[in-house]
Amino acid sequence: MPRERLYLYLFDTTLRDGAQTNGVDFTLHDKLAVAALLDDLGVDYIEGGYPGANPVDTELFGRDRGLRATFTAFGMTRRPGRSTANDPGLAALLDARADAICYVAKTWDYHVRVALETTLEDNLASIRDSVGAAKAKGREVLLDCEHFFDGYKANPDYALACAKAAHEEGARWVVLCDTNGGTLPHEVEAIVKAVTAVVPGDHVGIHAHNDTEQAVANSLAAVRAGARHIQGTLNGIGERCGNANLVSLIGNLKLKPEYSGSFEIGVTDDKLAHLTRVSRSLDEILNRAGNRHAPYVGDSAFATKAGIHASAILKDPATYEHVRPEAVGNRRKLLVSDQAGRSNVLAELERVGIAVERDDPRIVRLLEVVKEREAVGYAYEAADASFELLARRMLGKVPQYFDVTQFDVNVEQRVNAVGERVTVSMAVVKVTVGDDKLISAAEGNGPVNALDLALRKDLGKYQTYINGLNLTDYRVRILNAGTEAVTRVLIESEDENGERWTTIGVSSNVIDASFQALMDSIVYKLVKSGAPT
Ligand SMILES: [Zn+2]
Repeated sequence: MPRERLYLYLFDTTLRDGAQTNGVDFTLHDKLAVAALLDDLGVDYIEGGYPGANPVDTELFGRDRGLRATFTAFGMTRRPGRSTANDPGLAALLDARADAICYVAKTWDYHVRVALETTLEDNLASIRDSVGAAKAKGREVLLDCEHFFDGYKANPDYALACAKAAHEEGARWVVLCDTNGGTLPHEVEAIVKAVTAVVPGDHVGIHAHNDTEQAVANSLAAVRAGARHIQGTLNGIGERCGNANLVSLIGNLKLKPEYSGSFEIGVTDDKLAHLTRVSRSLDEILNRAGNRHAPYVGDSAFATKAGIHASAILKDPATYEHVRPEAVGNRRKLLVSDQAGRSNVLAELERVGIAVERDDPRIVRLLEVVKEREAVGYAYEAADASFELLARRMLGKVPQYFDVTQFDVNVEQRVNAVGERVTVSMAVVKVTVGDDKLISAAEGNGPVNALDLALRKDLGKYQTYINGLNLTDYRVRILNAGTEAVTRVLIESEDENGERWTTIGVSSNVIDASFQALMDSIVYKLVKSGAPT
């Protein structure tokens, strides 16, 4: 019979500590969207922010959010020399519509004296008074012990006294914070063990920062030492090097037997299969590219390039994978590249749904063409849609929907009527669709934009298929392939269903490279939509 597993509480602070990240600025709408993602995933606590500190957080804590998770407000313990009744910051925190209150308090004697400018005894009294005041309001209470590990190294008795004071006053959790993020896993394990001699482990939490790239390891070390509550953020966002990455932690806790055999978390196996989507949704909300190499959920987390690895993976995926990608909602990816073997190409064809016999001679030809093109600058591993079109063309399966017989792009700089120097771009495109000859012209914000607009302005009977098409990203790189410099253009497109794909063009001329990528994007959309020839 399996032994009973202990419950491990997950506390997310993406919306509070994660909001300290450079360049991250959550709106109320963003915060509600992130909270909904976290709630659905199954985390136990969601720290929403700092009510009273800014209008967004004040409004977030003034409304009903309809969440299952314990929604937590963050703030400081009462100020030195004040009573709890006479501290406006504390009052705002106590009045917030929150299920729990997480206080931050100093536990390093040096910080108490220098930063807080008060006595060690007054700081202990502040912890007791503040925890007591929140308990009296019927709130669950947590105490974030700031600089706990550095404080413990400097004055263990005082750091422990702070933790003990909060616990004795009725705090549900005493959270040990590695605020500067410099503590190493073996130190965390030893210090947490010492704390659990004073405060029971099922009341001890860990809050790690990633300044030595070990926030996840430090969190797991704390769990090994008896802590039962982990704080972290989605994708590890947070100031400086970030917080403990809750996404990686969830992967480890669910899929590594040492942890999954001993501990249970609120994330079910079904919800684990949404982990990749949750991680990427946060990137979408932040409007930034995700980390391709993020463990478990990155685009490259299960990507294999080398031919020998790829053929082994096709025989049995376990040969080069530590867990199954499907478990976390990611997917296996065999990169088509200049190192590619037949196995990669076959696997990619299978993935995009092109049926072909294993020994079809056209496979060898396709592989040769991919290698030739990559030698001159194409990068198909970054452009799935262009690879699919190339393969479909070589296997004779892409209709000739339309033909661009001529295009003309013009960039003109002149002085306008009010004396300003302006640059105007215009494109004219001649297209043949069946028996129709069409001419479209468009002005754009730059020559590529003008060409794109003219190209998509009138495609005759195909126009309805591309109305929902949008360019979402455009990247240009100058390469030195062979003897001359060439330009590589990657275009990311999106359709009305939110589906995205990337196409590529390579030429010594940036307009020509862009044209290739734009054409691939349009044709890919027509193929995908099943447009008739
Ligand atoms: Zn922090």
